[in-house]
Amino acid sequence: MSLITDQVFHNYINGAWVASQSGALAPNGNPADTADNVGQFQASTAEDAAAAVQAAQNAFLAWKNTPISKRAQIIEKAAAYLETHVDEIALGLTREEGKTLAQSKGEVLRSAQTLRFYAIEGQTYTGETFPQDDAQMMVYTQREPLGVATVIAPWNFPISIPARKIAPALITGNTVVFKPSSETPLTGYYLTKAFDEAGIPPGVLNFITGRASAVGPTLVESPAVKAISFTGSTAAGEQIAKAAKMTTRLQMELGGKNPLIVMEDADLDLAVNLVVQGGFNLSGQACTGTSRVLVHSAVKAEFTKKLVEKVRTLTLGPGIENRDLGPIATESQLNTILEYIEIGKREATLLCGGACPEGSEFENGFYVLPTVFTDVTQDMRIAKEEIFGPVVAVIEVTDYEDALAKANDTEYGLSAAIVTQNPKYAHRFVHDIEAGTVKINRTTTGNLINAPFGGLKQSSTSTFRESGRAGLEFYTQIKTVYRGI
Ligand code: NAP
Repeated sequence: MSLITDQVFHNYINGAWVASQSGALAPNGNPADTADNVGQFQASTAEDAAAAVQAAQNAFLAWKNTPISKRAQIIEKAAAYLETHVDEIALGLTREEGKTLAQSKGEVLRSAQTLRFYAIEGQTYTGETFPQDDAQMMVYTQREPLGVATVIAPWNFPISIPARKIAPALITGNTVVFKPSSETPLTGYYLTKAFDEAGIPPGVLNFITGRASAVGPTLVESPAVKAISFTGSTAAGEQIAKAAKMTTRLQMELGGKNPLIVMEDADLDLAVNLVVQGGFNLSGQACTGTSRVLVHSAVKAEFTKKLVEKVRTLTLGPGIENRDLGPIATESQLNTILEYIEIGKREATLLCGGACPEGSEFENGFYVLPTVFTDVTQDMRIAKEEIFGPVVAVIEVTDYEDALAKANDTEYGLSAAIVTQNPKYAHRFVHDIEAGTVKINRTTTGNLINAPFGGLKQSSTSTFRESGRAGLEFYTQIKTVYRGI
């Protein structure tokens, strides 16, 4: 397959691929090779964003009234497109974001499964009937779409996150304006192309690329926008929540500082594998990534020895070569990680990593070695702030109560895990931990398509969850009907 370079990609508004009114383009690079140009994307303006919202608004009524089986058919066709084009899309994803090709393929196929899940599940999502005294009357609820939904996505899962937002919106009869991250517009283009090829009617799904500062205010503040599904940093989520209209429903999936507790009875080999998987997979750029490991003092020495031995065996390289860790997605993210590593060196004890790898194969990419710090305490910045990179902080704990208090001592509450063979600890942990996703002897990362996903505290500031039937709930409102004879 030949690599696309320097191709110009367009916005998709009202069923047509169009240039931005600005006439300007933004190049997109490859974090593994700064000489590689993945493509040129529209540097859209507020006017482009307004045109996309208008198109979505114009298309809403007809889409709402389109039979659900027809909506499902289009979503299933888009899923088939993703499956048929998995190699091409995965290559584009790896080139612009850096994750390994195997992971990119997995993400594309999972997105197709998500589309298929909602095409079926949406057709069984019903209201309720209510018992009451009057035999001449029937009382029931029906679920209806909200209207225009804005989907704003991050770069770390550039197809699976938009897929799990767009599919439930469309199946329930909403129309969508989709803004991908400026770091991963190519993958967003492919997802949109899948719906275009599937025959989605004009205006039902619109796609615009461009900086948040240019298009964000219109996509967030427009009175026509009735729902915003956002995944990204807590800081951006806060800005969006402040700017959105009171009548706009919000779904906010934000940052994390996820703990994994290793109890004194834990299987230490399992614990090490879970930390390596959760902390270093995707080069630590997962919202549910393991960033704090709270280890019982009785096993800390043995655990950290095993952990460092394992981390030192991890290989780095371009995602296309399927090494253990690919590059960091952007230069600015790499610089942020390196700053935290310097802070960590001043605050705590470096056990391994702590620098960029040496060698000519790393010269043109944004690489950092998997890094482990120990002697970390709660007051340190590396224990408190989201780093979003391959940096794990080991914190010593004296018993379950100490571990729990430290695990909960954070403004975040996305995912949390405990490694133990004691069902009492496991049971108490499920009850006590302040996190939306709780794992027992499992890594902090990963979630199912059919189960709700979200966080507590500052990790999800809205009441609505994503994934599973929760995704359908977000995009629908209830009408209660009293029907006499
Ligand atoms: P980000 O900088 O917050 O950006 C996310 C998206 O929001 C991008 O499309 C960005 O556009 C847009 N955006 C930023 N500010 C905006 C504003 N004021 N109005 C409208 N749109 C705005 O996050 P990121 O760096 O892409 O992703 C990393 C973060 O996402 C981490 O904090 C991670 O924990 C979080 N995350 C959370 C989950 C979850 O499910 N909880 C999953 C994945 C990632 P531009 O690209 O144009 O700036």
